[in-house]
Amino acid sequence: MFTGDVLCKQFGISETVYNYVNKIEREIKEKHFEKIDNIREKNQFKVIKAMQDHRLDYTHFYWNTGYGYGDPGREKVEKIYASVFNTEDALVRPSIASGTHALYLTLSGILKPGDEVISISGRPYDTLLTVLGEEGNEPNNLKEAGIIYKEIPLYKNDIDWEGALRAVSLKTKLLMIQRSTGYSFRPALTIKKIKFAIEKIREVYPNIYIMVDNCYGEFVHEFEPSDVGADVVVGSLIKNPGGGIALSGGYVAGKKHIIDRIANRLTAPGLGKEIGLTFGTGRNTLQGLFFAPHVVSEAVKGALLFGAVYASLGFEITPTLDEERSDIIQAIKFNNKDMVIKICEAVQAASPVDGHVSPVPWDMPGYADQVIMASGAFVSGSSIELSADAPIRPPYTAYIQGGLFYDHVKLSVMLSLEKMMEFEEIKNKIFN
Ligand SMILES: *Cc1c(COP(=O)(O)O)cnc(C)c1O
Repeated sequence: MFTGDVLCKQFGISETVYNYVNKIEREIKEKHFEKIDNIREKNQFKVIKAMQDHRLDYTHFYWNTGYGYGDPGREKVEKIYASVFNTEDALVRPSIASGTHALYLTLSGILKPGDEVISISGRPYDTLLTVLGEEGNEPNNLKEAGIIYKEIPLYKNDIDWEGALRAVSLKTKLLMIQRSTGYSFRPALTIKKIKFAIEKIREVYPNIYIMVDNCYGEFVHEFEPSDVGADVVVGSLIKNPGGGIALSGGYVAGKKHIIDRIANRLTAPGLGKEIGLTFGTGRNTLQGLFFAPHVVSEAVKGALLFGAVYASLGFEITPTLDEERSDIIQAIKFNNKDMVIKICEAVQAASPVDGHVSPVPWDMPGYADQVIMASGAFVSGSSIELSADAPIRPPYTAYIQGGLFYDHVKLSVMLSLEKMMEFEEIKNKIFN
């Protein structure tokens, strides 16, 4: 009997796959886990300190009704978020339906007709293109509101700050940076790169607004983009900062006058942040934030294991094993439609929820190509929980992210490898 015997009987994992994954795990543990643990610890302390500084107590888990004036949970959540992100203020609401919604609110809250926004991290995330009016022709997109859009591609996986400086015009109001990989194939922008670019831009244009789409990036580093000069950071609560506990919502953290403008867009001019019932979501939101540093560290370890196993089989991965991580995504390029589908099936089969169903490619609102998504989450659509998705287009890249617990990710890595053994070339590599 070998150590994985029970596991293998339960999940149909062969001894070969079990041993292969464990061998790779030993290598990455030795090399990478300590650094991840150090970041986790710093972020955990930061979150606890913010909660203590704001004297969080059980009364903040209550809520009221109606307009939600003085909703105790809402105000506390927003103060704590502002402290954690080191900003003057924050909007954190269950009524912000998603990350895209939070980004749209931010852009439409800040920009006026005739203003220009420049993405300085290249082509943004798919749903943002629809928001900007670059794709489709949805009513109320930013183009319709008279907002001009430009983009500067990345240069060698870094922000081309010189190109950005050249592109700025009298109309330019806001520069946006997407920290995460999204559906591109590049490592996420590190805090160091974001900091450097912001400093260079600030030397010339001290007053231009800089927004960072922080989706998937929170707590991967000890600092956030708002620690290094971004005016406003935006993200989703069913990704990193919700810790797998928050049931819904989005956040925007930044300078007070910016948050005020955005709040007027969320509710109405004159009402701003002062209204908006939270229906008692404050406790979940805060407990999620408390869990988040730990959960993110588990997800990053899981991403490393996924990456290491498939890199060892010769697939191109990003980030590579030695690149600094700045989000929780592991992208693996399969150049093979069947393989990408197999990976998603394996992630689904490892899930505690919906483990018995099989994902299929479908047309998703806001996305140009068909997408296959594997997710068996306690919170629907939550991608801080282990999930895998892939746009069905060459080069057939799978994006794997999340995992509340490393062990869960490990199980899915083993199941995926077991499925991949159906391909002769993979089988040969594993046996050699
Ligand atoms: C997920 C994501 C978004 C959009 O968030 P949703 O909650 O899915 O609307 C935007 N940008 C990036 C980089 C993301 O990863």
